Formats: sequence, structure tokens, C-alpha cells
Amino acid sequence: MVVNEKVQLAITVASLVAATVLFAAEYRRRRRKPTSSPSSCYLHSETKPQFGFKRVLADNSYSGFKHLKKKKLEDGDKPSNSHPYESEITALLENPRLDEFEFLRGDYSLEMSDSYVWVETESELKKLAETLAKEKVFAVDTEQHSLRSFLGFTALIQISTQEEDFLVDTIALHDVMSILRPVFSNPDICKVFHGADNDVIWLQRDFHIYVVNMFDTAKACEVLAKPQRSLAYLLESVCGVSTNKLLQREDWRQRPLSEEMVRYARTDAHYLLYIADTMTAELRQLGTEDSSSTDDKFSFLLEASRRSNMTCLQLYTKETEDFPGNAAASSLIYRHLNGHEDNSTISLDPKFQELVRELCAWRDLMARIHDESTRYVLSDQAVIALASNHPSTPEEIHDSIAQADLASDSTPSAVICSHLDDVFQLTQHKLGKLDVILPLVLDKCLGTEGTCPISVFNYSLLINFNTKLTTNRSTPKRHKSLKRFTRKTSRDLFVKKFSCKAPVYHNCRIYANDGRLLCYCDRRKLEWYMSRGLAKLVEEDPLAIMLLFEPKGRPEDEGNDFYIQSKKNICVGCGEGDHYLRYRIIPSCYRVHFPEHLKSHRSHDIVLLCVDCHEVAHAAAERYKKEVAKEFGIPLFVRRVLDSVECESSAGGDSEDAGVSPLHLRTAAMALLRHGNRMPSSRREELLQTVKMYYGGRDITEEDLEKALLIGMSPHERRKLERKKGVSLKQENSSNDADANSFEEAPPGGDTNGESSVVGDDSGGDGAPELNDTQCNGNILHQQNSKLSLLGHGPHGKQVVEYLLNEYGEDGVRDFCQRWRKVFVDALHPRHLPGGWDVTHSGRRDFGEFSVYNPTKKVSTG
Ligand code: AMP
Ligand code: ZN
Ligand code: MN
Repeated sequence: MVVNEKVQLAITVASLVAATVLFAAEYRRRRRKPTSSPSSCYLHSETKPQFGFKRVLADNSYSGFKHLKKKKLEDGDKPSNSHPYESEITALLENPRLDEFEFLRGDYSLEMSDSYVWVETESELKKLAETLAKEKVFAVDTEQHSLRSFLGFTALIQISTQEEDFLVDTIALHDVMSILRPVFSNPDICKVFHGADNDVIWLQRDFHIYVVNMFDTAKACEVLAKPQRSLAYLLESVCGVSTNKLLQREDWRQRPLSEEMVRYARTDAHYLLYIADTMTAELRQLGTEDSSSTDDKFSFLLEASRRSNMTCLQLYTKETEDFPGNAAASSLIYRHLNGHEDNSTISLDPKFQELVRELCAWRDLMARIHDESTRYVLSDQAVIALASNHPSTPEEIHDSIAQADLASDSTPSAVICSHLDDVFQLTQHKLGKLDVILPLVLDKCLGTEGTCPISVFNYSLLINFNTKLTTNRSTPKRHKSLKRFTRKTSRDLFVKKFSCKAPVYHNCRIYANDGRLLCYCDRRKLEWYMSRGLAKLVEEDPLAIMLLFEPKGRPEDEGNDFYIQSKKNICVGCGEGDHYLRYRIIPSCYRVHFPEHLKSHRSHDIVLLCVDCHEVAHAAAERYKKEVAKEFGIPLFVRRVLDSVECESSAGGDSEDAGVSPLHLRTAAMALLRHGNRMPSSRREELLQTVKMYYGGRDITEEDLEKALLIGMSPHERRKLERKKGVSLKQENSSNDADANSFEEAPPGGDTNGESSVVGDDSGGDGAPELNDTQCNGNILHQQNSKLSLLGHGPHGKQVVEYLLNEYGEDGVRDFCQRWRKVFVDALHPRHLPGGWDVTHSGRRDFGEFSVYNPTKKVSTG
């Protein structure tokens, strides 16, 4: 593959991540019909912050990590994967610069003020890079998240100069973090860390950031032979500051960070310059006391500096093993047998060991596919439990795992729950030998008919997997062609999976009974009119029909030329014709709440885009949503919910601290329902408090718990739960639900040009990261609406549209649509919009009395 193609492929792959999240729901819906797969992957309804990353340097495939290449390879250069700044660091080791150890200048106040800088946009990051470039020294610490990610990712970087504390949101800025590369590799700027071993590696893994010139206060501790080396100890003994290290285990993905977490994070970097200053003085002091020769005066200091810079020479590598999960299985078996020395039945059981190996291999692959840690997928103790208990039904598997992980809320994991059948087959030995099982699992999850979404994290598993398992058998030549083959298929598969399956526009025509062209549309819509005797066929190829009733409006009456243009099956942005996705110009979180007849001009506001243009447009829309939230004062996420009944009855119900976040409510209810009677009573009490908060403080029943569980669930999850329970859970507003779905019974294809397959996923949960329940202000009373997920943007969309309708009526909504079209045009400057497409499109248009969009009439479909 030529380099250009490679780059293009990389970019395409990267852009498709966004599409993964966006379109997953649609594929689920499409797939449901033909195969009715029993295990629909949880990732179709759950989105994780890292799915927003466009590029990942360390993906979850079994291939090695590629380090930054500083310069292009010349002809004859051997490709290497060495440290890109090896020579710079070695130079520092050989010629340490003694003038460097000046960590503070002028007046310095040890105190941590109330203000800090939160860095979350590219321009803010650039400003930070400029600021840092002027410094001689700055302090750094990082926080990473590891439970819900295979390799872990940096969730926050704290940087402190003498003047300011910066908190860099490395989730929001993941793809542009290279902006900080130069300051970190600049040997003229000393970076102060405490215990940098992990930080150095994580910065390489996530951002190709390499630290050159470091002073590590933990290394200074070593050299000074301090009684303890922890930062907590130094903070206490040097600065008189205490810190709660328990916070290092917090979920650092959450936004906004709690006050406590912000304080903790700042504390980890803020005092480092002062500590470094104090410690270098001690190191110097030690030099003068201990040595008679003045040449050795700085030797302690130099030793600390040398050890620090040695840390920088470390290189991130992905762990490799000869077979997936092998290392984990061996150590598990070893540990287990050691703990069971007297228990000969277990140690002699070869089935036990075999099953442990199979479960570990399966867990390893599943963790990579779903980008989860192996311990999240299936804990070690759960592996042991499954291998020893020989559960014989999926239910027994479920219970075995729950029993083994008593202390944890999130068990069995979502991975297990949505792929329970696979675990079952595995434990029943129905799948054959291990090296057959893994390709099978991979194909089942990510193959053409795969159950799980493809992302930048698991995409290259497809490319590399076969070659890994067949390395021993195939000759190099076969190897190559196989590689080419998988590469091509996986790319094809990718585009196929995420782009439209067939030409979207069939360009069939509908004529009025006086012979005037009304619109172009797709075949299904045409058939809808035909099957109801509302039209007659006037032409076979291309299909055209004539309506037998008088349509109320005509396109030319409204200036809606748009509908009588035939449309091309190409990206309206750049003209790409090989693949395209549908793009909704008006985000669905708003559109679902529009009055039916304003929804009807879908085809105008749904266009085709290639993956690259799609991404640009989507990003602009997400940005604009934030502006809308600000402008209307309607937060994007629901912060707290209260049961409406309880709330009315308790007077001060809407005070600031009433209610609970939907996510917390849901997790608490779930844990109580699942493990309530088995968990420690203190934990149980804590969770009960959370649920009680929702019910205004009163005592709660089992039924209340079940009701609480539904809060915050997506409609999809609710349906799944219903199916699982085999009963229909009562919904207060179930009529509402039917109403919101009613347009599914509209002519397939909607009002005009072929939008048949876009209906369905209008839940409005577009791309909400899972942990932003406290993100926005506003104490919203929760009205149970089964179409809305409280964890997405749905409630925001609903409120905005209600506000518009109340204040400005339908014109408000039309205006609002125009703003979105403008956002779209400004972001993309589309060059291939169909003639007649117009930012000021009125949307005033229907077919009169037979149209399902007619607000006063519903067509009888009987
Ligand atoms: P620190 O700089 O001490 O706050 O730790 C940095 C990161 O290391 C944290 O964000 C965690 O991801 C990880 N970490 C450190 N210590 C622990 C621990 N005891 N348990 C889990 N994670 C830890
Ligand atoms: Zn899955
Ligand atoms: Mn920290």
C-alpha cells in the first residue's frame, strides 16, 4: 500500500469512530430483523468517553506500539522503534547543567489559591503551550482511567507553574495533545514530577509526548534516603499540607470533576516546585557536608537528576504473550493451586485448568474488542468460580459471577450480560479448541454480521488477528497475501458497515393529478400510495406515479424547488460517491420534539455525507449544541431528578440539593436489586440513601427500586429489561411513547425522497458520555417520558423545543432549523447540495388530507 493510501486509510478509520457511536443504533435496528441476534452488544446503547477519540496510538490489537519518528527515514535507514529523544536525554545525562536547578524565583507563596485554569479547547491548549514555552520549569502530574479501557488512558494532566495551576482535560483534547509535545521534549525546560515512571509511559502511549529534562522528587527522596518516598509524606513534611490519596482511585473520566477531585489533582502538582526547591537545597547541603572535595559538591544533586532522566529513557511497550490470556491464566492457576495445596480434587482436575485458560483467552479478546479492562470483563475470582462450579445454564453463569464479585456493583459486567450465550457455549465446550474459538469469537463480534461496534480501538484486531494465530503455519508469502486480503476486507467491511447499504435516492417521481411533478422519492413511499389505491402507476422505469387525490400544496406554491430536483447519491460536502452516510442537519434531540408536520420535510434536512465530512459536520453541531444550551439557559444534561409525586407533596422540593443524579440513582437501584441482601449493611444503607433522595426521603419498597431503575435508562435498555423479565414494565406515559413513534407508521420513506431507514432512533441520546450527570446546572423535575434517556441530550432537546413553541410558535422552530442549516453550511461549505436546497427552507409543505403529517388527520392504514 502506498503511503498516501495508508494515510488516507488511517484518516478514514479515525473518522469512523465518531460514526460508530452515531450509527450504532441504526445498525442494531437494521440487523434486528433478519438475524434477530440474541446478544445485542451493550456498546450499541452505551457510549464511553474514549469513543470520541479520533486517533489512538496504542490500539487494542496484538501488534506492537509504534513510537514517534522524529524524522523521515532516509533511503537505507533501518526502521527502528527506539526512543526518539534518546540522544537529547543521553546528552543531559552526560553533561548535566548545574544552573538548571532553580525551581523558584522571586516571591513565592506556598498557598494554593482558589483559582485555576481549566483547559479544554484547542485554543486554550495552544495558549498553555505558549505560556509553558516561556518557563524554565514547570510541574506535572497525570491521572489515568483504567477500569473501562483495555490499556487505560490519560484522563487529566495537571501542570503548575509558579503562578498558575492548569488542569488539562485530556479526554476533550485527546486528539490535539501533540500541541504540548515541544515543551515536554525541550531540554531547556525542566519538568518536575513526583514518581514519574507511570506518567512518562502514559504520555508516550496516549500522545507521543516524550519528557526530556526532568527532576523527579521521588528520586530525590531516594538519594536523600528519606524515611518515606510518597508524595503525601513530602506534602505533609515539607509543605504541611495533607492530601487524601484515596482520591487517586476516583473515576477521573467524570466531568465536571468534583471540587474535592479538583483540589486533589491540583495538590499533586501545585507544591512540586516548592518541594523540588527544598529538596535540591538539601541535596546541595548533603554534598557540602559529606564531601571534602569541592568537585563532588553537587554529586547528590547530580545523582538525583541522573536518576530522574533515566526514567525518561523508558519506553512504553504493549505486553505480548504467545497466546491471548496465557500469562493471566498461568498466574491465576498458579495462585489458585498454591492456595489449595490440601485440595487435591481441584489441582488434579485438568478440566479446571483448561477452562481457566479458555475463559482467560476469551476475556482477553472481549476486553480488546470492547475496550474494557480484563478485570472489568470478568474478574479473576469470577474465572475461578466459573471453572470450579461448572455452571450448566446461562442463569447459573450469571449467578456464579455475581456471587464471586459480591463487593462490586457492576457485576456481571455489561460485556458478560450482553454476551452471556457465548460464555455459556464456551463453558459447555461447544466451540472446540482454543485456537478455533478465538477467530470464531472475533468474527461473531466484528465480522460482517458482527454483534459489536467497530471502533479505532478494535479495528486493527481484524487486520492483525489472523496473522497472529497463523504465524507458525504459513509461509512468508502466504502471510503477505493473507495480510493484504484481511486488510482489504476489513476496510470494505468498515465502509459497508457504516455507510448506506443501497443508493439512498431512488429518484422515483410523484405527479399531481394534473400532471405536475410534485417530488422525487424512494420506491417504498411510492408503493405505499399504490397499495392504498391513492395513486396510479404512470411509468415503469424509472418509476413514476400520479396521485388520485388533490394534494393540498404544490412545491412551487412554497418556492420549494428542492423537492422536484432529482438527487445524486454522493457526499454533498465533497462529492465522494463511493460511500456515504446519512447526516441529520437538525440534531435528533430537538427534531423528535418538533410537531409532526414540521418533522415532515426530513429529506431537506437529511443529507448524504462521506465519513470525513460527516465528522466535521457532527463536531460543529456538538459545539453549537453547547451554545444553544448557554443561550437558552437549558443544560445539555439532567443534573438531578426527583420523583414528581413526592416532589409535589414536599414543599421545598426544588431546593438546590434535592434529588439525585439519574446515573447514581440507576446504579444504586441496580446494585440494591441485584445484591441488596448480600452486601455489607453500610454499603446497602449508603445506596438506599441515594434512592431515598429521589423519593423525597421516604422509606422505599422493592417496587420503588424497580421504578428507580428505569430512570436514566435509555428506551433501548428499558425494552431489553422488559424482554428479560418477560413482562411489560408499567410506564406512566406509555401513550406518549406510542405517539412519538407514530411516524414509523407513516409512508415508509417519510414525506419525500427516501428517508425510510432513518426513522427509529430518535431517542435523542446522541453521543452523551456516560459520566456527565452532574455536568450542568439546573434542577429539573423528572417527568417520566419513555422516549427520553435522562443520560443523553433528550431532555435538553425537549425543553428547548417547548420553549421555542411557547415563545415563538412554529416560526420559532423554523428559525431554529435555519440556524442549524447555517451551522452545517458554515462548517462544511458543501459544494454538492442539490439545487433548491436552502438555508431558509420553510418546511411548510404537506400533501393535504391524506398525509400522515397533517396535524388534524391521521390516515387510516386499514
Ligand atoms: P496519582 O498521581 O498518585 O494521583 O496517581 C495517578 C494515577 O495512578 C491515578 O489516576 C490512578 O489511575 C493510578 N493509581 C495510582 N495509585 C492507584 C491505586 N492505589 N489504585 C488504583 N489506581 C491508582
Ligand atoms: Zn459486544
Ligand atoms: Mn495525581
